[in-house]
Amino acid sequence: MNLNTAANVQEYLVEARGVSKSYGPARVLNNISLGVRKSEVTCIIGPSGSGKSTLLRSLAFLEEYDGGEVLIEGELLGYVDRDGVRVRAPLAEINRVRRHVGMVFQQFNLWPHMTAAGNVAEALVRVKKLPRREARERALHMLDKVGLLEKADAYPIRLSGGQQQRVAIARALAMEPHIMLFDEPTSALDPELVGEVLQVMKTLAREGMTMVVVTHEMGFAAQVADRVVFIDKGEIAASGPPREIFHDPNNSRLQQFLQNYL
Ligand code: ADP
Ligand code: MG
Repeated sequence: MNLNTAANVQEYLVEARGVSKSYGPARVLNNISLGVRKSEVTCIIGPSGSGKSTLLRSLAFLEEYDGGEVLIEGELLGYVDRDGVRVRAPLAEINRVRRHVGMVFQQFNLWPHMTAAGNVAEALVRVKKLPRREARERALHMLDKVGLLEKADAYPIRLSGGQQQRVAIARALAMEPHIMLFDEPTSALDPELVGEVLQVMKTLAREGMTMVVVTHEMGFAAQVADRVVFIDKGEIAASGPPREIFHDPNNSRLQQFLQNYL
């Protein structure tokens, strides 16, 4: 009996197979393959300009790639065929699956004219079509989860960067994503505000959220990641459990990169 195929397709919640991308002559992603299982935390590390954001955006279908394919929950939504022709699922299909993918960026991108609760509730009303009252209730619940219930009616300008980022996380979580993608969520923060955001992310990880986190916080990666992926010049130059990645004397590119964090 062959138990292989169907089970394997479902194995990864998100999977990149040989994803490549160029901007003009510059190869930004070179044949990246990566799979994330349910409840796993994958941290992506690497130098600035190595392609980390491009990869994350490709996983969320925010970026067109020119080679390879991305699967979300086993669903193939787009691929590039042998003749280099890009084939995509219908937009409605892509949006349906993309709704299961939450994203948090370096810049919090809150709407300045809406309160914290308003920011979290907005997509619930517009996209999920929840009645306002229900949306606000869920927004308050999510703000409570990130420790900001008492700031529900504050406008972003009244919030610290760390609080704004926690609102952005609450906003993503309110959509009930199956996977969360974080692109340097603490890089824009003053050092003393980094911890409160990482704490929220640690709690999420502990609760079993599937996460892909681009980060320069090596302590977080060492502590929380099931797997660390080191990207250098658009390629996966190392990948493995943190205890291997952070103590691999044989990989000189990795050692050179990590030296900046000691
Ligand atoms: P990282 O997130 O690791 O810093 P990025 O994925 O943002 O790296 O960028 C990888 C490379 O792609 C960089 O050299 C960057 O300059 C280039 N790049 C990113 N976006 C664009 C774009 N829209 N047009 C041209 N080059 C780009
Ligand atoms: Mg980046």
